[in-house]
Amino acid sequence: MLNETHDPSLRSWVKSAQAAGSDFPIQNLPFAVFCRAGTTEAWRGGVAIGDQIVDLAALRNADVINADVIKAEDPATELARTALQAAARDQLNDFMALGPAHWSALRHALSHLLRVGTTADEQARIRSLALVPQSQAEYRLPARIGDYTDFYTSVHHATNIGRLFRPDNPLLPNYKWVPIGYHGRASSIVISGTPFTRPQGQLMPPGAPQPMVGPSKRLDIELELGAFIGPGNALGRPINIDQAEDHVFGLCLLNDWSARDIQGWEYQPLGPFLAKNFATTISPWVVTLEALAPYRLPFTRPADDPQPLPYLDSAAQRANGLLNIELAVELQTPRMREAGIPPALIAQSNYRHAYWTLAQMVTHHTMGGCNLQPGDLLGSGTMSGPEPHQAGALIELTAGGKQPLKLPNGEQRTFLEDGDSVTLRGWCDRPGAVRVGFGRCEGLVLPAGTTAVQP
Ligand code: CA
Repeated sequence: MLNETHDPSLRSWVKSAQAAGSDFPIQNLPFAVFCRAGTTEAWRGGVAIGDQIVDLAALRNADVINADVIKAEDPATELARTALQAAARDQLNDFMALGPAHWSALRHALSHLLRVGTTADEQARIRSLALVPQSQAEYRLPARIGDYTDFYTSVHHATNIGRLFRPDNPLLPNYKWVPIGYHGRASSIVISGTPFTRPQGQLMPPGAPQPMVGPSKRLDIELELGAFIGPGNALGRPINIDQAEDHVFGLCLLNDWSARDIQGWEYQPLGPFLAKNFATTISPWVVTLEALAPYRLPFTRPADDPQPLPYLDSAAQRANGLLNIELAVELQTPRMREAGIPPALIAQSNYRHAYWTLAQMVTHHTMGGCNLQPGDLLGSGTMSGPEPHQAGALIELTAGGKQPLKLPNGEQRTFLEDGDSVTLRGWCDRPGAVRVGFGRCEGLVLPAGTTAVQP
């Protein structure tokens, strides 16, 4: 699965790609949709390299992916050109729909263009034509998201949450057999940096005779990864486990903001509704599965757990179905911001704690014939690990709001206050491979609207 684009010795002539701690070395090359902030420029696809963006529309217009970049007889040249046409557009759905051969061909072409060894003329041409500093960019959703499904793939989160909502019966018996998910709301998915309003809803205070209407007092985060679907499947045609990853374009960070008090009242019997549908924030950069290839881990099941049913199991999944992605949550309050105190790390986890793999999510989603479409988004579910500080939600980190978090300036938090901002981060690192990262997924809580919802 590894190829020349993963070679740890590759360096880019964009020197910031080699900066210590850079999320975007030449081994990463994630995709986003961007324009220069404060301009009326058209949105177009871009690829991150160091602190710059390669403007794919400019590359397309300049016709730089040609036989000089990849050997003339290489069929990948044509695939890369087709891929570039699609990736330069104002949404990446068409590019996502092309599939792994096209994605990989464009990745190889970009790797060649950006690596040390490209001619000085070519470097100068790309630098002047197609590099935009990330500091000057704004982003929008990378794709038109037709459908959004949120899974629940951390058994640690499922157990912790289950214990709070059902103390006697934390983990329901289906959990270890079925990749649990629900169909979410695509219209309220926003790009990192977009503030959102604290939701109002029906709240049922303990002991109250009837529900009241008001702003959520238990506004929470959920630390997740999002998976963008590439090629879809026809209605009625399930996706086999060993083809499932060919249908996944790549991963981003995802914060599934959650109103726990609204959730507690509305959750049974059907599941999440208004507790989840007011905002979901994703990071702008989508890291391809190919970029994550050095960070594969075996998928395993404890011997005393049920083993996956055959349609969810395969030798390939057992060999490398999981991904080793470090995840972190940072919180900054308004007082911290005013005092210049940087965001505080409040949780750190890893995608390796997923009970169900990406491929198992895709295969299970489609087993009844449901059709996925390019640009659909699947959430991993809150990625809590086994240790208390690895919890990916405040409701777990604070024991249901009973044990406040202590922040560096002496403030405390159980749930989010107005003006708080939360940033998710993700990265992969191991000896023998180059660190690749996901950038940032940030959201800020605005006060509930003054136009109250009438009961
Ligand atoms: Ca969730």
